[in-house]
Amino acid sequence: MTFELADRVQTVPPSGIRRFFEIAEERDEVISLGVGEPDFSTPWAARDAAIASLEQGKTSYTANRGMRELRDAIADYVADRFDLGYDPDEEIIVTAGASEAVDLAFRAFVDPGDTVAIAQPSYISYEPGVIFAGGEPLSVPTREEDEFRLTVDALETAGAADAEMLVLCYPNNPTGAIMREEHLEPIAEFAREHDLIVLADEIYAELTYEGEHTSIATLPGMRERTIVFNGFSKAHAMTGLRLGYALGPADAIGAMNKIHQYTMLSAPTTAQYAALEALDSCDDEVREMIDQYDRRRRFVLSRFREIGMDVFEARGAFYCFPEVPEGFTAEEFAEDVLREQGVAVVPGTVFGAGGDGHLRVSYATGLPELREAMTRIEAFVEEHA
Ligand code: PLP
Repeated sequence: MTFELADRVQTVPPSGIRRFFEIAEERDEVISLGVGEPDFSTPWAARDAAIASLEQGKTSYTANRGMRELRDAIADYVADRFDLGYDPDEEIIVTAGASEAVDLAFRAFVDPGDTVAIAQPSYISYEPGVIFAGGEPLSVPTREEDEFRLTVDALETAGAADAEMLVLCYPNNPTGAIMREEHLEPIAEFAREHDLIVLADEIYAELTYEGEHTSIATLPGMRERTIVFNGFSKAHAMTGLRLGYALGPADAIGAMNKIHQYTMLSAPTTAQYAALEALDSCDDEVREMIDQYDRRRRFVLSRFREIGMDVFEARGAFYCFPEVPEGFTAEEFAEDVLREQGVAVVPGTVFGAGGDGHLRVSYATGLPELREAMTRIEAFVEEHA
């Protein structure tokens, strides 16, 4: 017997990044600038708290929405860091990674046939998430001339005025772009005018290297129409512990919790203890990691410029997004530099509209490896120029 797949599942292609991992596996001494996860380990105090919770046998489910102490700590943290005020009783849900929270939002708010506008290039999970929920993704390309910020022009041109929902991710994966308050204001106005729900994936908020992160939910009239996503994977180097959260109005978070309580019950308990400790006592380690990312960012940007590859000034997350030199497509460059020089980067095309002609280069890798990788990319460019 063969399983007949649901149309929704069939229409979604496998992740475009996978092919590059397969090539990387065939070759020795590959330096990967391809992955989107910290090279640091989770701060020790958080790991110790997780271990202690296991030793004490704290291995049961927690409240569906997450442990009350953790929701309190998240409420204090987002208020302190990002000026976001959410009630831990009703307006915060702790999830298995921000990924689960994003999926819950699509399933809670998208009806079959609803259009979901997605600012692109973007994290690869939004489009499939919309399709799995029965919705129709609408690409809204951002442009290098605008430093990959979303603009009202782009929204209008793409027809996003008729969408039900808008997804944006700043600081951005894959471009490293950020949006300041003055850039978010016209987007907020557009969302209010056209009555859009806004999903704001702010998982890289802490990784903002110049100035402070502004959440779109803090702008007038936006709190009531926005769900903010964040989590512990990036700034707290906890990807494998799978812990994230969503913030939003009580009825919206309640709807997401309805799905969560039937499908996940509660986020991993051990990870919740680690996260509680991370918020309580790991600020110094987080600061140190951010400083290191910033040093690497400046190094990688300056090396690309030395090599003669155009790259815009990425100011957030841990990615930069250089242009491929003339004579290559992004796919060709990524494949050839991997085969010939053993450096893995990801073609921008994988991340949707606007990613053409670019590469995503992650600098969540130690400086010695980054130095060697940039030397190899330079050799590759010199050979093929
Ligand atoms: N959102 C963005 C923009 C990401 O880049 C990633 C991971 O790369 C995630 C969400 C997934 O986060 P989590 O590990 O919390 O599920």
